[in-house]
Amino acid sequence: MDIAQLQRQKLPELPARIEGLAALAVNLVWSWHRNARDLFHRVDPVLWRLSQHNPITLLNRVNPERLEALTRDGDFLGRYDRVMEWFAVERSAVDGWFEDSHPDVPTDRPIAYFCAEFGLHASVPIYSGGLGVLAGDHCKTASDLGLPFVGVGLFYKKGYFDQRVRPDGWQEDGEDAVQPERTPLVPVDGPDGRGWVTEVEIFGRPVRIRAWTMQVGRAPLYLLDTDLEANHPDDRSLTSRLYSGGLPMRLRQEWVLGVGGVRMLRAVGIDPAAWHANEGHAAFLMLERLRESVTAGTVITDAVREIRRTSIFTTHTPVPAGHDHFDLTDVRDCAGEAYLADFGDRVDDVVALGIDPSRQDEQFHMTALAIRLAGHVNGVAQRHGIVSREMWRHLWSERPADRVPIGAVTNGVHLETWMANPMMRLLDRHLGSGWNRARENAETWDAVLGVESETLWRVHERLKNVLITRIRDEARQRWKQTWSEAAQVVAGGSLLDPQALTIGFARRFATYKRANLLFRDIERLRRLLTDQQRPVQLIIAGKAHPQDDPGKEVLQSLYHFTRDPVFEGRVAFLEDYDMHLAHLLVQGVDLWLNVPRVPLEASGTSGMKAALNGVPHLSTLDGWWEEGATAKNGWTIPRAEASDDIDVVDGADAGHLYRLLEEEIVPMWYDRDEEGVPREWVVRMKEAIRIAGRHFTSRRMVQDYTERYYVPTLRGDPFVDDPPLG
Ligand SMILES: *Cc1c(COP(=O)(O)O)cnc(C)c1O
Repeated sequence: MDIAQLQRQKLPELPARIEGLAALAVNLVWSWHRNARDLFHRVDPVLWRLSQHNPITLLNRVNPERLEALTRDGDFLGRYDRVMEWFAVERSAVDGWFEDSHPDVPTDRPIAYFCAEFGLHASVPIYSGGLGVLAGDHCKTASDLGLPFVGVGLFYKKGYFDQRVRPDGWQEDGEDAVQPERTPLVPVDGPDGRGWVTEVEIFGRPVRIRAWTMQVGRAPLYLLDTDLEANHPDDRSLTSRLYSGGLPMRLRQEWVLGVGGVRMLRAVGIDPAAWHANEGHAAFLMLERLRESVTAGTVITDAVREIRRTSIFTTHTPVPAGHDHFDLTDVRDCAGEAYLADFGDRVDDVVALGIDPSRQDEQFHMTALAIRLAGHVNGVAQRHGIVSREMWRHLWSERPADRVPIGAVTNGVHLETWMANPMMRLLDRHLGSGWNRARENAETWDAVLGVESETLWRVHERLKNVLITRIRDEARQRWKQTWSEAAQVVAGGSLLDPQALTIGFARRFATYKRANLLFRDIERLRRLLTDQQRPVQLIIAGKAHPQDDPGKEVLQSLYHFTRDPVFEGRVAFLEDYDMHLAHLLVQGVDLWLNVPRVPLEASGTSGMKAALNGVPHLSTLDGWWEEGATAKNGWTIPRAEASDDIDVVDGADAGHLYRLLEEEIVPMWYDRDEEGVPREWVVRMKEAIRIAGRHFTSRRMVQDYTERYYVPTLRGDPFVDDPPLG
């Protein structure tokens, strides 16, 4: 479908003078260009907020008279023309980093990037958390850098669940169908007007797969969907929800993603030169490529070698339970006889690619499969690389961990997505043009230290006010619509004080993230929060996985404190953590708290988002923070002495946490000069921005992936393989 057709389908006719808004609304690039965002905001500020920043909804709902008025508004038209000029250039590829730095690399065949979730914008809710947001940031950056790139994922029509917290603190999983017509997604036409582009067999039944596509800047993203009348009723819901339905559903979804994803690309005529599986969920893509190759007559050892040469696999967790595995017989049955028969007499060897020799468990391990079939494997922070080499060295028959060929590319976050507009404007004035593209460029980022302290502080105060105002508005709306008890209004943050030191903690409620660590000593925490001279408040958000009852229990116990009068309304829980709320939080709190149990956090990224906005980090020494901490950009909870007793470790960490807050953080934040500026604190803010900008953007991350893995693969460099045994 061409762009014009797409616009006609999703959007009303716009006045000719500003009709370019339609093309902009259906390319997610608007979401990370601040002038484009601002333009939609100016169309109708109230509707923009009510539409939750969805330009398609906005343009459908806005009063036509308002649009006519805009065509006579000189200021708006000036902005419109500038955005359109940028958009025209953006679409025709400008940044050119890739072309400039690698002119010899062929770009006719793209990198295909597979992931089970993509967090691009709250208006396209096909993500649950960190993994998805990282994948979204990766796509946006690939577009920025001009990489030949295509994303492949699943279209969850019912998205991830909506979180509602009952008055007793128990999390309920609400459901909200996504309206495809309110997203930039369009269905891809199948051959001969069929509604589907390809087909796979799952547990003996043919499942037809439809594809949807949308533009993420210059990079197309394809999402697969089985909700077709031509499918068996049970198969129609295969792709309806993210991470639900337990293992049987997960296996089927991963089969659709991996096997269906490869076939979909073939069907639409895309022939990737490099294949990147982001986390083990996507690893069946390698199995399908192996099958393709073998059925085309390639000897299996040659086929494996070629797949290893062209496959990149990124693993994301050091928590063993975070690695998917399925019953071996289920995997065989899911694939079916015909599929397995394609491997001929080597079928047992192929199935054995998913065996983990360190476990006698008759399970098929997606990470083992991915490591065996990808010649380029990496963890997502330096420490995580070390942990992963240790964790998987048995695949190389217990060779020393430092000789295990698993590398590390430390995660980063997409600056233009996560840094607040006022902060970017401030840096525009101090860092010189193109500052947001400077890679590892010390001078550019050092210039942050020269920003006038009071100016930076005022920008921060403004962002904090935005956050607190939004929280109160939201509480008012929920009180009106859904909440039955006044205590919920307090729990939702309506008593928060813009003058108090505000700590943010937002992440998935997995127990290892220890959201409850601050609450170990209630009396000590109460004293800290309710100090009359120097009050502190805590804003918490996050979802527990629908099947994670221990996580829900942590949430419930925390929620209880938000309603407890002894805390004077200084602990708030915000429901339904998503990218939109994440923006407000990382841009608006004073301090970002992160207390995973070491070494279970692979990387963590929310602290990077906060740091880009001048929010210092208070964290255990894990994930990215081990590389990021400089002693001036935040505070570190020293590593506890190793102990098998979790309670001992938690106690030691909590002790440090309280002490740092009581003795260093609170006094420094409240130490103000005549202008009311906490000078020493602002030094930390600047350092936070400087380090994050220089080392922890997705620009640096994708450039690392490009230089280490993508370029050698695209160029067909000689490949020195070091495969695991067996
Ligand atoms: C960044 C982000 C995450 C990941 O945060 P971590 O620090 O890695 O736990 C999760 N959810 C949302 C909505 C995010 O924006």
